Amino acid sequence: MAKETQFVEQIADINQDFPKWYTDVVLKTKLVDYGPVKGTMVIRPYGYAIWENIQNEMNKRFKTRGVENAYFPLLIPMSYFTKEAEHVEGFAPEIAVVTVAGGEELAEPLAIRPTSETIIGTMCSKWVQSYRDLPLKVNQWCNVMRWEKTTRPFLRTSEFLWQEGHTVHATEQEAEEETQAMLEIYKEFAENCLAIPVLTGRKTEKEKFAGAVATYTMEAMMRDGKSLQAGTSHYLGQNFATAFDIKYLGNEGSLQTAYTTSWGVSTRLIGAIIMTHGDERGLAIPPVVAPVQCVIVPIAARKGGVVEACETLKEKLENAGIRVTFDNTDNSPGWKFNEWEMKGVPVRIELGPRDIETGKMICARRDTLEKSEASLENAVEEVKALLADVQKNMLERARNRRDERIIYADDIDGILAGVEQGNFVKAGWCGCRECEDKIKEETGATARVFAENETAKECAVCKKPAKHVIIYARAY
Ligand code: ZN
Repeated sequence: MAKETQFVEQIADINQDFPKWYTDVVLKTKLVDYGPVKGTMVIRPYGYAIWENIQNEMNKRFKTRGVENAYFPLLIPMSYFTKEAEHVEGFAPEIAVVTVAGGEELAEPLAIRPTSETIIGTMCSKWVQSYRDLPLKVNQWCNVMRWEKTTRPFLRTSEFLWQEGHTVHATEQEAEEETQAMLEIYKEFAENCLAIPVLTGRKTEKEKFAGAVATYTMEAMMRDGKSLQAGTSHYLGQNFATAFDIKYLGNEGSLQTAYTTSWGVSTRLIGAIIMTHGDERGLAIPPVVAPVQCVIVPIAARKGGVVEACETLKEKLENAGIRVTFDNTDNSPGWKFNEWEMKGVPVRIELGPRDIETGKMICARRDTLEKSEASLENAVEEVKALLADVQKNMLERARNRRDERIIYADDIDGILAGVEQGNFVKAGWCGCRECEDKIKEETGATARVFAENETAKECAVCKKPAKHVIIYARAY
């Protein structure tokens, strides 16, 4: 019996110590391990498989916008960063620089990319000559490096994986539309693939991307009530096009400066999955991106015919495109239940001699922990239907949890009390930086996103008339 509860006991209590719970879960489910250099992570196969599923789903969506994948170099001449004043100011503290290579000091230091606007801008100025070359839409899947002081796997590491899309357009309107369209794609992806409800909208000037005209974000509420910025889409106006000389000959014959956008999501999304859906038993991974969607656990495996029946079932499900594993190790069924629940597999099938005799199987779903009997003969349809229902239910439950925890406040005390109880707090804002700074100082909460189409009477800080409603939260 001690062995059977081993895993459950090893994870810290999610309600008592959320940070420890998170660390326990990412390490014990073998999503990641720590790298030898402080602040780096090793993404293990189980974690990387989630990332691959995210990539597949994203690539499908990028294609619908005519975005093509490409790859740009890791090393960027330092001088590129100084071309866009806000950009260099924002990124300077985080840039790692190569100064020596091949045993010699380099004539020009090389930045390890923290993001690629500068190098992609430089290349686009070469590739874009006439209006016929527009729009230009590229995306790259790559690693980036931002030197961070405090790090946590998936949430903040000095090196992480992401995709960064970059587009160049002839007009302001087209570039703004692209920025919004990508935000919509991210939102749809977050909700339908990751089962994570997100709030989308514009960031304040203070919180926007260094060098952008406007930054749009999707913010997700984690189990502890903190917000996680899960993806951003930037309208860059002509800032980078001017700095990197992206000009095109218009159809009327005059030289025009282009408009650009950039947008990205990263391996942070895996952190978002963990902290949105996880519970006291460990991970719960939404079926669309789960590395293993269904695990088969034999009951009384030594009895004649059980292993064979499990193998047949596995093949049947696999041929139908379901990602399935048959756990035929010699651990006890109870131990296996704990392990696969901890690993967040959406559906578990239990198959024993009595089930096989009656043509049944037991299905246990990870989201509700409910068990039900299903027909072995219709296993493919049964499992597919169950996976679809788990996916849907995970989104609904996350949305309900979040919606219950969005509250309103009239003043700083109300915002402080709200975020301390793990809420997102909506409050009026006059639009001035001083009031935004004051809220951060006194509550630890930041302006996550504008609540579009909402109005408030007065600013929660200075009591002057409110121009906007802001959603405040503490954040990762
Ligand atoms: Zn104010």
